[in-house]
Amino acid sequence: MIIDVKNVKYTYNEGAEDEKKALRGVSFSVEEGEFVSLVGHNGSGKSTIAKLVNGLLLPDVGPDGGRVLIDGMDTADKKKLFDIRKTLGVVFQNPDNQMVASIIEDDVAFGPENLGLPSKEIRERVDWALECVGMREHAHGTPFRLSGGQKQRIAIAGVLAVKPRVMVLDESTAMLDPVGRAEVLDVIMKLNREQKMTVVMITHFMEEAALGDRIIVLKDGLVAGEGGKEIFRDRDLIHSAGLELPLAARIAAALRGRGFDLPPDIVTAEELKEALCR
Ligand code: ADP
Ligand code: MG
Repeated sequence: MIIDVKNVKYTYNEGAEDEKKALRGVSFSVEEGEFVSLVGHNGSGKSTIAKLVNGLLLPDVGPDGGRVLIDGMDTADKKKLFDIRKTLGVVFQNPDNQMVASIIEDDVAFGPENLGLPSKEIRERVDWALECVGMREHAHGTPFRLSGGQKQRIAIAGVLAVKPRVMVLDESTAMLDPVGRAEVLDVIMKLNREQKMTVVMITHFMEEAALGDRIIVLKDGLVAGEGGKEIFRDRDLIHSAGLELPLAARIAAALRGRGFDLPPDIVTAEELKEALCR
């Protein structure tokens, strides 16, 4: 198990008037090589989880205090933080907060430089990572004039260049147009398939979520359900978690309502197309 989140609670501004219990006892685990989607309504605690798995935040302590283990390393163990961040890279939600250098290639090089890699290897990784996200021609430009989507690509390249065993993407493609989103997603899925990179994709696009081997549904700081894409057959779960079914599933339902005889488990556009052709 490469990620093990055990009964984790997290409270912002504990004891203050604006105290907020963001996570109320979350447990889930991820095996190496898996592609897991994490979905949930706004404020359900997704970004808090992204910050907990790389040790940026630590679980509340207490008698039944939870733990976050990354490849067996406890995020509460300060001595392990460097190795944890080498193992698991997070692309956070707001790319603006992630730019550290004034030249794009230097920004992408920041992670591999921290690993102390030889400069030739850093050069290769930076070129490769920028190529992966389709930003190679911008290598010498400044990140500040880029669009939100381009900044997200750079932030993804920065994490790719570290070649972590696990990549966590927190709504990292939200600012891309549909074509750009599909391109970046292709790269991530390829790394998952071919290099066994573990992926945790936080998304509010249910079509994207349905690509995961497993989907974890978060609701009000708790795991409300998890399973393969058949989880989208559980309309009550999806709706009560404040989410929508994937578009293909909604279209299938509408067509069924108009007398089309379609199977009940359509989730992806591909499945809908096949059923309609039949
Ligand atoms: P999500 O990413 O699913 O939208 P978050 O993890 O960002 O949810 O937030 C979970 C809850 O914690 C929300 O109610 C949010 O308002 C609150 N929260 C998030 N960050 C902070 C913060 N820095 N200070 C106080 N409350 C926060
Ligand atoms: Mg968030």
